[in-house]
Amino acid sequence: MIVLKGRVIDGNGGMPIEKGAVILEDNKIRTVCRQADLPELPESAKVYEIEDGSILPGLIDAHVHMGWGSATALDWVSSTPQMQTCIALRDMQQLRDSGYTAFRDLGSDVVLLKPAAAAGLISCPRIFSAGRIISQIGGHGDSYQKLTLEASEKVYTISYLVTGVDEMRRACRINMRNGADLIKIMTTGGVFSNGDKAGEHSHFSRDEIRAAVEEAENMGSYVSSHAQANRGIRTALECGVKSIEHGFYLDDYCIDLMIKNDCWLVPTLSIMHTSKLYFENKEGVLPYLKEKTLKSYEAHYRSLEMARKAGVKIGMGCDFLGDADFGCSYDKATMEFERMAYAGFTPLEIVRMATKVNAEILLMGDQLGTLEEGKLADVILVKGDLSQSVAPITDPNNVKLVIQDGKIVKNIM
Ligand SMILES: [Zn+2]
Repeated sequence: MIVLKGRVIDGNGGMPIEKGAVILEDNKIRTVCRQADLPELPESAKVYEIEDGSILPGLIDAHVHMGWGSATALDWVSSTPQMQTCIALRDMQQLRDSGYTAFRDLGSDVVLLKPAAAAGLISCPRIFSAGRIISQIGGHGDSYQKLTLEASEKVYTISYLVTGVDEMRRACRINMRNGADLIKIMTTGGVFSNGDKAGEHSHFSRDEIRAAVEEAENMGSYVSSHAQANRGIRTALECGVKSIEHGFYLDDYCIDLMIKNDCWLVPTLSIMHTSKLYFENKEGVLPYLKEKTLKSYEAHYRSLEMARKAGVKIGMGCDFLGDADFGCSYDKATMEFERMAYAGFTPLEIVRMATKVNAEILLMGDQLGTLEEGKLADVILVKGDLSQSVAPITDPNNVKLVIQDGKIVKNIM
């Protein structure tokens, strides 16, 4: 039995229990109560308490890419599966040391590590993965547009490049065969791809998108789409996509459809922030990259504000690539808390998005995301008052204790 004492922030968004306690037994949460109401504890119980500490559900990031290791697509050409595996293990360790006990991977081969995690060969946060991204030729996932198509098909790529309904179905089924939990497609261009315009291009035909949605629903899941330009967001929503990633150019029509179809928006403020800082301070950056980044940056906050006012379900993801030089290694994943505060959300709203809402996005809302009796024992203990400010969580040194599935996986008490 593990007993945590401190300020309990349960993830539901309400006020904390100031002198609260959480009892964990095996891999479940047994009790959440005031310290005054604690039952008599057995001598074997391990009790953890830090002065001015907050007890939270394990954090969840809803948009990562494990094992890429670089923000430059051409670096991936020289990567091997062995190297990617090692980078993914490092990324997952950094993420967990920052307080995350689960993540949604939206495109990488980390899906292939799920059996190793299940067998106890590696220790990492819970993996919920889309497998490889599905993009169109010339789309955002066509990473090597500086190479000929023939040459690019011979090297490692983050994506399946598909044309037509049959190829779309085939790519979905390969991902499922590899253990994917959802499907990730790209219905617009993106900031880092040189052949498209993030704010304008729309990708995939309706038939192709509908085929992906049907395949995902057949496996009891949903489609997430990289969707930045307005037209590609609209098409995705009209064809049944449930999770809009980035969502730079929303309008009232998209917002209405998101509410009607019960969709999630997962903004990715941190990667845009690090990109902006990087491109502003670096000489010789390609003009299209700088221009797309700065334009998208502003649009991103405007759309987020619209979604917030309308009551769209909003999750949280850093969209980091594991590149320390670029400022987006996973030990900085909690930068998303800071960016959400900058966007105007309160600390309790931000914690709720990173726990309860993100657990729902992982289709695990009944088991994870809040501190409630009977849920899985994914809990963290953080120095500082997270109900007043998110600043403490942005330093991994303040994450004193991380418990996943009832086991202590980080302890710097
Ligand atoms: Zn991404």
